[in-house]
Amino acid sequence: MRISVIGCGYLGAVHAASMAKLGHEVVGIDVDQNKIKELSAGTAPFFEPGLPELLSESLRSGRLTFSTDMEDAAGAQVHFLCVGTPQKKGEYAADLRYVDAAFTALTPYVQPGDVVAGKSTVPVGTAARLADELAETAPGAILAWNPEFLREGHAVADTLTPDRFVYGVPSGEASEAAVAALDEVYATPLSTGTPRQVVDYATAELVKTAANSFLATKISFINAMAEVCDAAGADVTALADAIGLDDRIGRKFLNAGVGFGGGCLPKDIRAFMARAGELGADQALTFLREVDAINMRRRSRVVEMTREICGGSLLGKRVTILGAAFKPDSDDVRDSPALSAAAQMQLQGATVTVTDPEALQNAKGRFPELGYEPVTEHAIQDAHALVLLTEWKEYRALDPVAVSSLVTEKNIIDGRNVLDPAAWREAGWTYRGMGRP
Ligand code: NAD
Repeated sequence: MRISVIGCGYLGAVHAASMAKLGHEVVGIDVDQNKIKELSAGTAPFFEPGLPELLSESLRSGRLTFSTDMEDAAGAQVHFLCVGTPQKKGEYAADLRYVDAAFTALTPYVQPGDVVAGKSTVPVGTAARLADELAETAPGAILAWNPEFLREGHAVADTLTPDRFVYGVPSGEASEAAVAALDEVYATPLSTGTPRQVVDYATAELVKTAANSFLATKISFINAMAEVCDAAGADVTALADAIGLDDRIGRKFLNAGVGFGGGCLPKDIRAFMARAGELGADQALTFLREVDAINMRRRSRVVEMTREICGGSLLGKRVTILGAAFKPDSDDVRDSPALSAAAQMQLQGATVTVTDPEALQNAKGRFPELGYEPVTEHAIQDAHALVLLTEWKEYRALDPVAVSSLVTEKNIIDGRNVLDPAAWREAGWTYRGMGRP
């Protein structure tokens, strides 16, 4: 099939390269000239394991091209909308200006029978509104909403072999055409039995926000338990292991720590609350306010713990932050708990050095006032406290004995509960985890 992918960020670039890998002829379009230049040259503009190889392979096949010119979308049978939907400044609601701009720019090139398939995460009601607009600007074209569930760090596998597809389609005859087009796009993963659910627009939009709200709630639940464990002298890690063995609960997403961040969960739960308010259903989601509040408290808590471990004040203390990305295997620092905590520590008088294997460039762009050092050993040198905030493999594997000789004081905060407390304590460190005695 001929496919266009509008917006080539974390979602769109992987989607475009993956669709070419599945055998389609794909053009990826973005307004960011630098990004398109890099992608055209086979360079991934962000860190995502497997993406450079996938890009090279797809570009070499001749089935993948990139462009800044929307006119190049003409001729595609399916157009995927993958632009950003960030939080509006000073409000909880999602900012739909990129979706609207991309949609308006695209529709002159959409032909009758084409499918425009939204993948961006949008407030419920957006697809219905865009479908009405499409009926006027490109009669005979069909709108579908096909939310994306990829996880950064696993984006390639999640796109090529997702755990499910959700198609939000219009009612009537157009629905069959939309389903047929998307089935053809995803023929390879569907042939291996990947479930797909065909629903109406509103349900498709809500599936995505509901899934993210559930995940955010699970994380904040265990972080709330961590607060109680702290107060009671209990161990939240053992608690999570024990309750996680109940398969109605499950152990995944029950890791207490410094909480969630990134370009999705925080803004998605806020946009969901804002939209529910507009619909008169705000009471249904008041719990998400608490989920958000618990999550933000984790960042203050880790700062407080660092102050305590440094003897009550951060003034003049050298603190090393291990990890800047919001999660390992990504260079994404959008709403990163690590950087947010690092900035708070700096404000309280600490000299903060942040290290990360992939995210330093992005981190510098967001928080230029913090200190940065790419080599872990150099970053650790002379520290009064190490604070692990992103669980990259290399930080999990740090040897407490070897690291001892580098620091001024042997204090470590394990903001992700991934280190072995006994090993660190045996090596003479003061170890503190989140919700662990
Ligand atoms: P991103 O900021 O990395 O990418 C958005 C891209 O859209 C940018 O490259 C930007 O230049 C481009 N863009 C903006 N306006 C445009 C226009 N008018 N025409 C063409 N391109 C335009 O964002 P992202 O992380 O890829 O997220 C995109 C959407 O996907 C969001 O709605 C997000 O919530 C959703 N999503 C993201 C993930 C994820 O893990 N990143 C997962 C699932 C869903």
